[in-house]
Amino acid sequence: MNILITGITGFAGSHLAEYILAHHPGVKVHGLVRWRSRMENIAPLLHTGKITLYEADLKDMSSLRKALAAARPDRIFHLAAQSFVPASWKLPAETFMINAVGQINLFEAVMAEKLDPRIQIAGSSEEYGLVHPDEVPMKETNPLRPLSPYAVSKVAQDLLGFQYWQSYRLRVVRTRGFNHTGPRRGEVFVTSNFARQIVMIEKGLVPPVIHVGNLEAKRDFTDVRDTVRGYWLALEKGASGEVYNIGTGNAVSMKDLLDRLLALSPAKVEVRIDPDRLRPSDVQILCADVSKFKAATGWSPKITFETTLRDLLEYWRSAL
Ligand code: NDP
Repeated sequence: MNILITGITGFAGSHLAEYILAHHPGVKVHGLVRWRSRMENIAPLLHTGKITLYEADLKDMSSLRKALAAARPDRIFHLAAQSFVPASWKLPAETFMINAVGQINLFEAVMAEKLDPRIQIAGSSEEYGLVHPDEVPMKETNPLRPLSPYAVSKVAQDLLGFQYWQSYRLRVVRTRGFNHTGPRRGEVFVTSNFARQIVMIEKGLVPPVIHVGNLEAKRDFTDVRDTVRGYWLALEKGASGEVYNIGTGNAVSMKDLLDRLLALSPAKVEVRIDPDRLRPSDVQILCADVSKFKAATGWSPKITFETTLRDLLEYWRSAL
């Protein structure tokens, strides 16, 4: 079986490639990269010769067609995106172009090449956006009230997935991933950012001050290694046209996250609110009802939050 991962150089994509190579050895893994892609996340895999890479950009349909024609995937995990919420405030059109229009290009390229793969698209809990207290934990049926350009682009991806299934029988499974984290998480994202700052302080590289944004916000964090196993199961067992939440069902506040990271470190720090880290409108709480995904696939998270945070700190201790 051929599988194609868009966004293979990213955080989740690199973990997904590792998961597939480790657990499904008969599968051939193909990935899309851009000429300027940073390769460090997949560097260990490159040496194995077990992945095949194609240069393609979601904004360039002809590059997508060439890659698809060569890889001929039976399954596509569509993870590539402008994935950073704060960047979407500065670059709303670019975010929409990559995420929404880029996915249209991918779908159209699949159909132009007369392929019939199962396609997972990586939607996000950010699609739910404004959530009322009586709507937590959120089910897939919850209204989508996106609160950032990124979130709107993910709603567009999600609904395009539904529409292409209805209109063309493109076999799309939509996942709404709640926050995932772990080793290799980009340093701009909150868990990794806190962990990196703590390790910088441990190593005496910066003064013992941690800069933070909104510490009241609550998020449902899954270990990325559990999330990508969920993505695999979504295409293995999920129904085409359907949408599934993937998360743990537990929400922790940013303050709690920071305290738990600090408890795993000898560093003594002062916490300082940085107005630049506050968003124009922030989602207060995201917490998943995962019963639909569990019933469809049997998935449940296996890695404790404590292990995830330890591994994240260790990642930064060896990276810095
Ligand atoms: P990353 O930012 O780590 O990775 C994004 C990937 O997309 C990179 O490989 C990047 O390639 C690629 N990419 C970006 N723009 C383009 C483009 N124009 N053409 C081709 N490739 C492109 O994101 P994550 O791994 O964290 O997230 C994966 C997916 O999951 C995303 O769709 C994200 O929105 C979604 N998601 C993530 C969550 C999380 O908590 N991590 C939560 C919910 C959803 P390059 O190396 O060239 O930059």
